[in-house]
Amino acid sequence: MDRVTSPATRWSWVEVNLAALRRNTSAFRRRLGRGVQMMCVIKADAYGHGAVPCAKTMHAAGASQFAVATVSEGVALREAGIEWPVLVLSEPPVDCVGTLVEHDLMPAVYTADFALALGEAAAARGRVARYHLAVDTGMTRIGVRRQDAVELRRTIDFHRGLECAGTFTHFATADTLDDWDFALQLNRFREVVAALRGAGLDTGLVHCDNTPGTVLHPECHFDMCRVGVGLYGLHPADATRPMIDLEPVMSVRGRVVRVIYPNVGDGVGYGLTYRVPKKNIQVATVPIGYADGLARELSNSMDVLVGGARCRQVGNICMDQFMFAVDVNSARAYRPSRPVEYGDVVTVIGEDGDERIGADEMASLRNTINYEVVCDFGMRLEKIYT
Ligand SMILES: *Cc1c(COP(=O)(O)O)cnc(C)c1O
Repeated sequence: MDRVTSPATRWSWVEVNLAALRRNTSAFRRRLGRGVQMMCVIKADAYGHGAVPCAKTMHAAGASQFAVATVSEGVALREAGIEWPVLVLSEPPVDCVGTLVEHDLMPAVYTADFALALGEAAAARGRVARYHLAVDTGMTRIGVRRQDAVELRRTIDFHRGLECAGTFTHFATADTLDDWDFALQLNRFREVVAALRGAGLDTGLVHCDNTPGTVLHPECHFDMCRVGVGLYGLHPADATRPMIDLEPVMSVRGRVVRVIYPNVGDGVGYGLTYRVPKKNIQVATVPIGYADGLARELSNSMDVLVGGARCRQVGNICMDQFMFAVDVNSARAYRPSRPVEYGDVVTVIGEDGDERIGADEMASLRNTINYEVVCDFGMRLEKIYT
């Protein structure tokens, strides 16, 4: 753990392993046919990993397009000098049309009012705005209803400031094999694409697969796949585990900023929800809290790794710190080889020796999914790229 260099101002950080990110990106790239483009989803600051360095690594590994959730995320990429195509995955407020055109960001489009405002904003600047038509084929989230897709295109297509660069949908159940609802959405999507083409409309790039779709449903890669969580080394479902090898990209670590042997019966943290049960227990403090993404509901239920051993987190997780306990007399697997000292590295997510705590383990303790765990750690911790 000594190879870890922590930031100067606070003893806690997110480590982003760009070599693992590159290998994961290549693993997905190899699954796509020659003519299929790879759109890397880097919304929410690349799921907490840092959008700009991740985008550069992904592009070097064969990605040609990028997707974000918000206009500000897209603008931040442009301001960082990233010039590759960027899709905003939903239709933003109509007031954003000028910003979209000025930064050459492609929005998802599904209402005529928005599309025409976008076309006007582009024409006023002597430009053509490229957009992707989003189609709701059954998830009931965003997009034009499938039966209205052709009519929407007919309403907006006259506009010389607009160009349809893509047509896409999103699956609600791509992570389950042999799923009837998935098949239904895919059929509907194929029908919409055929209807658009039958009406003489150019669909642009046709795309629908997210990570589980890309891995489990190669029959619908179409012109492009939108890969997100898998790039960061996380599986969207158990079904993808046997199908593709992925390496986790994010580790979360801190250093012990204080350690004591409290008296028997002393309480720990707000509410004193943990009481020191016997002698020779160390209680150590690490500067990572719920404002850093370490969810408070993990209090008194998670482990951390120190010196290759698992130790129990104790007391309520605070906004900026948590505490953990080491029983210096317990079995070797539950304590480091020596008592914990000021400055020791503590792993919250990642590997230490033979032990590993994954985002999946933390997600199941929190009753959520690995996606949310890594997004949360993007909040405040400084990122170190290795
Ligand atoms: C987030 C998102 C993706 C990526 O999903 P993963 O499961 O992370 O691969 C793809 N498409 C859309 C529309 C999304 O919102």
